[in-house]
Parts: sequence; structure tokens; C-alpha cells
Amino acid sequence: MPATNPKNPESASASTPPKAAAKKPAKPAASIESKLAKLGLRTDMDLVLHLPMRYEDETQIVPIREACLRGGHVSQVEGVVTKNEIAYKPRRQLLVSIADETSDIQLRFMNFYGSQVKQLAEGTRVRARAEVRHGFFGAEMVHPVYKIVNEGAPLPNALTPVYPAGEGLSQTVLRRAIADAMRRVDWTDTVPQSVRTRLNLAEFQPAVRLLHYPPPDVDEHALTERTHPAWNRVKFDELLAQQLSLKRAQQARREKGAPSLAAVGQLSEAFLKVLPFALTGAQQRVVKEIRADLVEDYPMQRLLQGDVGSGKTVVAALAAAQAIDSGYQAALMAPTEILAEQHFRKIAAWMEPLGVKVAWLTGSLKKKEKQAASELVESGQAQLVVGTHALIQDTVQFAKLGIVIVDEQHRFGVGQRLLLRNKGSDGLVPHQLMMSATPIPRTLAMTYYADLEVSIIDELPPGRSPIVTRAIDQNRRDEVIERVHAAALEGRQAYWVCPLIEESEALQLQTATETFETLAASLPDLVVGLVHGRMKPAEKQAIMDGFSAGEVHVLVATTVIEVGVDVPNASLMVIEHAERFGLSQLHQLRGRVGRGSAASVCLLLYQSPLGPVAKQRLMTMRETTDGFEIARRDLEIRGPGEFLGARQSGQAMLRFANLETDQWIVEQARDVAAWLLDAGTPEFDAIVDAHLQRWLGGREEFLKV
Ligand code: ADP
Ligand code: MG
Repeated sequence: MPATNPKNPESASASTPPKAAAKKPAKPAASIESKLAKLGLRTDMDLVLHLPMRYEDETQIVPIREACLRGGHVSQVEGVVTKNEIAYKPRRQLLVSIADETSDIQLRFMNFYGSQVKQLAEGTRVRARAEVRHGFFGAEMVHPVYKIVNEGAPLPNALTPVYPAGEGLSQTVLRRAIADAMRRVDWTDTVPQSVRTRLNLAEFQPAVRLLHYPPPDVDEHALTERTHPAWNRVKFDELLAQQLSLKRAQQARREKGAPSLAAVGQLSEAFLKVLPFALTGAQQRVVKEIRADLVEDYPMQRLLQGDVGSGKTVVAALAAAQAIDSGYQAALMAPTEILAEQHFRKIAAWMEPLGVKVAWLTGSLKKKEKQAASELVESGQAQLVVGTHALIQDTVQFAKLGIVIVDEQHRFGVGQRLLLRNKGSDGLVPHQLMMSATPIPRTLAMTYYADLEVSIIDELPPGRSPIVTRAIDQNRRDEVIERVHAAALEGRQAYWVCPLIEESEALQLQTATETFETLAASLPDLVVGLVHGRMKPAEKQAIMDGFSAGEVHVLVATTVIEVGVDVPNASLMVIEHAERFGLSQLHQLRGRVGRGSAASVCLLLYQSPLGPVAKQRLMTMRETTDGFEIARRDLEIRGPGEFLGARQSGQAMLRFANLETDQWIVEQARDVAAWLLDAGTPEFDAIVDAHLQRWLGGREEFLKV
């Protein structure tokens, strides 16, 4: 007779005790179905593709003495019950001792049924599996997985799969449901034989079967590390489905109409003439790429990646100019008011003398001002509109929107970007240019961004001086203040960035206000300014203006300056509690300096002791200023899930493949997806449909945004 944890018969995880035993173990089938559905397991194929998260080795029995000596490891032992009692201290629990020829061990149950007390009567032979701990009364197993067995009962000869399970779903039930589904499902291999041969891919059915029922001689290491050919086949299929789905979304986009912005004319040329500098080679290249896209009559969807300070704004302005030259409007949206306002000022200063009407639209405008701005946009008088997400509010109608430019696109949700896409007129979808200073590693770009063209500015404008970065212990802040003072006396300006606005007892972070006061007191001959997120936009702007004009020497700021702020004379950056910031944030912040010709310095103040991750981050910051290298290390430290926000990342949609380690499979899948779709034959279309149906079912829409 098998299995006996009340709620969790054969609970595979010995360390998870069953919850309070309220429900009866036997449940009608309908309820199992709904529990399976909660795990997303609706069809037979869903069940078949519900693969083990790990495997347990139940093929061995360890003598009790040896298991106790090993301690701290999961072991399986077998013995006869020598003691069975219910203890009440410190709480009601069932204590069972079992013994073999070598020693004895206690099994402890905090939750148990009366039937278990009887079942584990003295003299019963028990096989138990759990981590051995050394408690007050000697060696014990807490809530082991156990079975009543007869002497000499055979052991399984292969690894036991452990499935991701939900509330109230036991491994036994899952195993049975999966086994049933395995018998019913259509096993047709959706990857053509020729591809399998070329890529040396395992066949679908044997691969899946092996993962559910590993044979005794399986390479255990490869199985657990998910490097076994069977895993590779499953990962390939999963990635192929993702690539196919994204490429189909791309095809669908091409079928939508967009205004062809064919005229690169007067405005673009005049603009290039008034620019005080020449475009870098990289800027010229991406401008060319964008120009070609804008001429097409289907919507561009292009991501412009360029490190902080690489000069994306000019490229954006040129894209806008092309729309305006072609008789359309352009919209530029930024995630914060400060950043949007900077764009507005800069672009207005460039464009207005050339006769372009630029409108300004943010949430903080007074009702009347907003209305006036909206009217300019609706009537088409404003050719260029700059603002925050207020731009996409329903009330704003564009007369003739040709292109939408989104700065720091990762700051906006997918929904917000979709809304902008709908702002076109005459049933046309505006072109989209997204800009980001957070370089996205290649693998991520290929998965999440399969429907995006990517342009990269990989060169900084000339004359930039390298930034020297140092990490400095908090307790040396006096020296740092002295340094700020010296820099100011030389006519240079400094940022001093703090992570929080108000004192948080839990974190004990220095507040911006406090820092501001301390700095103002210790630097009486300098002008110290403060900007933080809770200030009114006008106040903020006044301080920023003072800083831009060189009247404010030291700008104490919360991370509101993180993106986009551009004051070339600022050459010193102090980051307070640098250990609290993420790598890409630190990189963005540091990018605020090093924009002029003066040698720039970034000082990372930290509170010791540093944890290993923080240490790694600060070290990375000291070692490199290359945004791509930093992104790569960030990916290593954090994993891709966090990279773009878990919901947006490609990884979030992947169950088996790992974007970091399986890049080669991503590339194979991408090539095969292109090959299948480009053929366009009914035979291949059927293959694609079958594969998508198998892997995504009705969930394909999810991947399209
Ligand atoms: P980001 O890519 O971070 O948005 P910006 O567009 O703000 O960078 O540009 C950073 C600074 O470099 C700005 O002051 C801008 O005027 C200047 N800049 C941009 N392109 C060039 C260039 N080709 N030569 C010299 N300076 C440039
Ligand atoms: Mg920028």
C-alpha cells in the first residue's frame, strides 16, 4: 500500500510539510481537472509538455547509520518501526522511530491523520526519504516521503521525475494524468526530418518520453543540468514556437498601412546645416536606416540603441524632420517631465528658427494650457509635439501623425506604446522609433524583439574625455565634499545623487534633503540646489535651469536625473549609497558626466560591508564604461527576467530554454523559423500551424505585444 501523507501522498518534496489537513485526499475528477487547469494544463499536449522540474534518486537505500553520518543530504532509508507515539511538546506531533541493522532514526510529523498513526504501527516496515537533520533528540527526518513496504520490495530502477505541482495536486495525480495524456496525444513530429537531421535533433516523442521516464542508464548529470539531447529538442521546439509567433506578428505588421514619408527635404537639410557639429559615422548610418524605413508604406518598428551620451536626440530630430517635410506630424514622448522638457527646449531651439511649430504637452499643464496644446495638435498647426505620456491620452487627437518617437522606451508599458500606435489617421499606423540607452543583449533582442529592427549607435561623439570611476567608503565623505569644492572652484559642476526622498527607517538611507542641508552647510561659498520627484514641475525646472546655466554648482538630486539630462559642464558625479543601485541605473547616472571636454570623475559612495552582488556591481562600474559590456554583466548578475521587467522579457515566456545558456538554440530556432515561413508553401504553413498549436495553443496573442 503506497503513500500516506494526508494531503500530499508521495509528496516528492520532503522538506515541505503538508498544510493543515483540512481536505480529504480523494476528490472527484472534475476537481482534479480544475486544479490542472490552474497550472495551465488544459489539453493532453499541455500535460505531455508539463515536464519534470527535477529528478529524485530513489533507486538506492542507504543504511540508516550512513544516512545519519552523511547528514544534511536527502537519503532514502528503510527500517522497521520500533516506536510510535504522539508527543505534545512543544506541539502535537507524531514521532516514529525506525531501525535497521545499523542504527535507528526518528521520523517526525507535525501534521498527520489518525490513520497514519495506525499505519505506522510498531513492527511495520517503512521506506522513508528526506533530508537527515540532527535535532535535539538525535538524527531525524521531518515529514519524510514514505511508503509501507514488504521486505525485499523492489526499488525503482530509474530516476523519479518531480513535477511542478499546484495546491492540492499530488505528484501521483499529476503522474497519472500525464501518463493518460501520453497515450492519447498526437505525436506527429512538427519539425521536418530534414531539419532534425541537419541540426542533429532528437525525435519529439522519444525525447519527451525520456524526460518523463528517464531510463536507468541515462546521463543523470545532463538530465538535471538540462543539457541532455532530449532537453535540447524540447528547448528547440519551444524557441521555434516563439520565433514563429513573433515573425508572424511581423508579417501582420507589414500588412498594415503607414504613411510613406518620402520627402527628405528642406527641413532635414536646413537642420543639418544649423547643427553645431557633424554627425558621427554611427549617427549617419542609423539615420540612413531610419530614412529607408520611413519611406515604406508599412509601419516602421525600430529600436535605436545607443549608449548614454551617444547622441540619439539628433537622430530623433532628423526622423521627425522627415515626417514634417512629408507633410505629417511627429510626436516625441519621454518618460519623465524633466526629460521631456529637456527635449522640448533643445528641439524647439533647433527647429523653431527653421519655422517649425513645436507644441508641449504634459500632465502637469493647467487645464487651459493643455487645451491650447491639444488644439494645436488637433488642427495640425503643431508639426512636432513633445511631451510625457499625456500625449497618448484619449482626448488628444492628432491631425496627421506620421511618426511616434519614444525615448527610454523600456520605461513605458507595452499598453502605452500600443495606444500611441493607434493615434494615426485615415486608418494608417504611424511609424515608431523607440530609443533606449539600456543596450539589450543579442539573445534578448532576438527573442523579445524579434519583431523589431534594431539600429545601434556604437560610437560616441568625438572629444569626450573618459570618466574615471572610484568606489569610496561612506566614512570618507569629507574628502569627497572637499573634492566637490575644488572642482567648483575650477568652474566645474557636480551632481550628487541620493536614492530616496524621505528617511526610511528600514533602510536608513541618507535623504536627499539631509544631504542637501549638510552640503549647503559645508560648502557655504557654493550654490547647492536640490531637485527631487516630489517637487512641483516649475520648481524643479527653475533649479534645472540654474544648473544648466552654471549658476548652481552642486545639484543634489534623487534619481530624477537618471535619464537624459544633458549639462556638458558637469564633470563630477557623486552617487550616494551606490550599493543600492542596479548596474544599468548606475551606468545611466554616470552617463550624465563626461559630456564636455573636462576630465570627468564618478565617485560611488558605499556603505560597508558590501554584499557579494553589490561588490560585483561596483567592481564592474570601475572596470568599464562600455554600456554593452555592462549590460552583459548585468544579465549575468541578475538574469534576463529582470532585464526588461519580468513581464516584458522573452525569458518570462520560456519554460525550458534559458536565454543565457541556450543562445545557440535560439539562433537555430530563428533560422528554422525564417526558413519555414519564407517558403510560404501550404505544406510548410501547415507545419507552422501545427507547431504553434502544440506549443502555444490559444496563447499566441500573448507573444505579439
Ligand atoms: P543620448 O543618446 O544619451 O540621448 P544626447 O542626444 O543627449 O545623447 O547627446 C549627448 C550630447 O552630445 C548632447 O549635448 C548632444 O548635443 C551632443 N552630440 C550629439 N551628437 C553629436 C555629434 N555628432 N558631435 C558632437 N556632439 C554631439
Ligand atoms: Mg537621451
